[in-house]
Amino acid sequence: MVKNGLCAEIIVDLAVRKTDRVFHYAVPKKFENVLQIGARVLVPFRERCLTGYVVGFGAPESQVNIREIAGVLDEEPVFSPELLELARWMSESYLCSTAEALQRIISPRLQVKSGRGVRRIIPALDGEKLEQAAASLARAPRQAAVLRAAMASPGLTVKELAAAAETTGKTVELLVHKGYLAAVNNTSQAPPGYGGPQFTAGYGELQLNADQATALEQIEGALKAGRFSVFLLHGVTGSGKTEVYLRAIAAVLQEGRQAVALVPEIALTPQMIELFRARFGSLVAVLHSGLAGTARYQAWRRVKSGEAPVVLGTRSAVFAPAPRPGLFIIDEEHESSYKQDDHLRYHAREVALKRAQQSGSVVILGSATPSLESYLRAGPGGLYRLLKLPVRIDNHPLPPVQVVDMRDELKRGNRGIFSVPLVEAINRRLERHEQVILFLNRRGYANFVVCRQCGLVIKCPSCDISLTYHLDGTLRCHYCNYSTNRPVLCPRCGSDDIRHFGVGTQKVEEEARRLFPEARVLRMDSDTTSRRGAHERLISSFRDGRADILIGTQMIAKGLDLPKVTLVGVINADTTLHMPDFRAAERTFQLLTQVAGRAGRGSLAGEVQIQTYTPDHYSIIAAAAHDYESFYRSEAPVRRALDYPPFSHLARLLLTHTDEETLTKGALLAKEVLEKIAAGVNIPVDVLGPAPAPMSRIKGQYRWQLVLKGPRRNTLKDVIKEALNILDKERPAFKPSVHVDINPQGM
Ligand code: ADP
Ligand code: ZN
Ligand code: ZN
Repeated sequence: MVKNGLCAEIIVDLAVRKTDRVFHYAVPKKFENVLQIGARVLVPFRERCLTGYVVGFGAPESQVNIREIAGVLDEEPVFSPELLELARWMSESYLCSTAEALQRIISPRLQVKSGRGVRRIIPALDGEKLEQAAASLARAPRQAAVLRAAMASPGLTVKELAAAAETTGKTVELLVHKGYLAAVNNTSQAPPGYGGPQFTAGYGELQLNADQATALEQIEGALKAGRFSVFLLHGVTGSGKTEVYLRAIAAVLQEGRQAVALVPEIALTPQMIELFRARFGSLVAVLHSGLAGTARYQAWRRVKSGEAPVVLGTRSAVFAPAPRPGLFIIDEEHESSYKQDDHLRYHAREVALKRAQQSGSVVILGSATPSLESYLRAGPGGLYRLLKLPVRIDNHPLPPVQVVDMRDELKRGNRGIFSVPLVEAINRRLERHEQVILFLNRRGYANFVVCRQCGLVIKCPSCDISLTYHLDGTLRCHYCNYSTNRPVLCPRCGSDDIRHFGVGTQKVEEEARRLFPEARVLRMDSDTTSRRGAHERLISSFRDGRADILIGTQMIAKGLDLPKVTLVGVINADTTLHMPDFRAAERTFQLLTQVAGRAGRGSLAGEVQIQTYTPDHYSIIAAAAHDYESFYRSEAPVRRALDYPPFSHLARLLLTHTDEETLTKGALLAKEVLEKIAAGVNIPVDVLGPAPAPMSRIKGQYRWQLVLKGPRRNTLKDVIKEALNILDKERPAFKPSVHVDINPQGM
């Protein structure tokens, strides 16, 4: 309802930086009774018609040049005041516009992903509103024609619809993007199984163990108090964290509030969903980016209406429109996939914390290997409370881990991928008809140079990250651009066996088939799982015992419960350890711990072998001992000494351009501007680089980066903001595009 004479205050989606200005638009009589704060509208803007977000009503400073709203897209608000505040916070925190943040927050309506089957286009708005939209597009007759054609015959394919409106598929896609039309998948079905059991407070036979009970008691206390509080649930693999989550959810439902539980992409398995449905039945809504348009929209609606007070989903589910959230759970909180690494570079853990703070909710961060950031905050004087589940359920032992020194293998004259101990261990499994997993780090990162005699890896003297091997024969630091020639002899031991290094899953498969000709070998990597469902098929065939050895990358590291697996072999721990990333040691520890967690899940005892050229590294020693504390005690001082997070903040400016010279010039100019501004602030800000990014060329685009480092996140942001204002004034044809990432993952 609009009071007489007031205008709507609207944020217009201009798709450029700095669009946070609020514009005033007059509300035509016909919309006065329907228009609400939190709705999307169509507004004339210069020569175009754009989407806008209604954020308030008020009187403009002057009545001159006030234009009218052309159409109302939503009769019900699609974002609440809480989510608007969240969008404003995101715009501040991640240096995006509020409109971009809002678009991300309400994405299920606007963005429809294509999946299997035929994509068919239907109107996304009801008839009258689409009519208005078509009318408002008078200046874009082809778009208007598409809308009319879609109304006349809903369900055409993009091609058919484009033909009907005598235009191209591009126009159709534009309208889908704008939210007038939706793409549906005609093989997709309605969300399955909502007829399941309603939530009952029964848990079957399961009795919490003492640690679980203590943890739950604390969480329940906080839920009752209804105040913002954060728990770090540090539990070893198999310690029953999930059961604690489920009980905490039951408790928040008793308070009449909703729960949002996030899991990493790979962990959102059918088993996980079943677990939630078995406990909460039709109260569960599953939200993830793979859901087709209508199913996703329906799930979103059920959350918004309160019909589904339990949300289970991946990263973007953190924006679930729960009306009164009371609990946010982030399982595997250390996972880097919670950070979106393109477009709007938000971190779901940070967003969850912000939402919890706004709504007085409880947050549970769960992990067997907490991020350094979270563990520091759960320490003395920190904001989080630490809850521990130190043992596996039923005191099931963690598997013994053997570290195999690959330098010894060389001394024995074995130059192969497989060490003698690993071959022996595999043979023992094959004889006993048990199963083996062989784990390999993702390819493409093996660009470091290692001495095979002594294990030395050449690092940057000031940044302490591994230098990256470039085709011109140099080794470079991609933080500060230090460079040196690739050595011919190892600077430590003088050996000439120093080379750049890497082995792919295919090579390991070949070698395994040669060494174990009688074994049935399966390989699981991005090549063999690119088809939909291939991942599940491979796993189930392995689980059913149709193979003896499974070779795979990251994707086999977590979530799998395979009782017949009694040996996990890590082919080469060094590829992770020498990633050019200040978090390399942390990633190695996390990965090895996850992988080790796959062995001995059933009644058979398990064993883990880790092959490495650097057996004395603390991350490998600590992982072998299943000792997070000792890892933390070794890693924290290193980070502190070098001013890396969690003891500082980083920001990355990624610059891209198709012309290398333009790019380097632009990067040097950016550095100059940044340094000038940084010199004028009281809080220190280091500007490192420019240097080639870890992947220095993608799809014809050259990529360089600048890294900013400093104790205060806000200072970094302010410096960048000011620099971008200056750089934006440069002539556009001659400057690289700039992508800002605050506290990036994977660098
Ligand atoms: P985590 O998430 O910590 O790795 P899970 O939640 O997967 O551990 O728990 C491991 C197994 O133990 C699961 O099969 C779970 O059903 C079972 N479990 C959890 N809590 C209990 C309990 N209190 N008593 C018996 N079994 C339990
Ligand atoms: Zn050496
Ligand atoms: Zn450096």
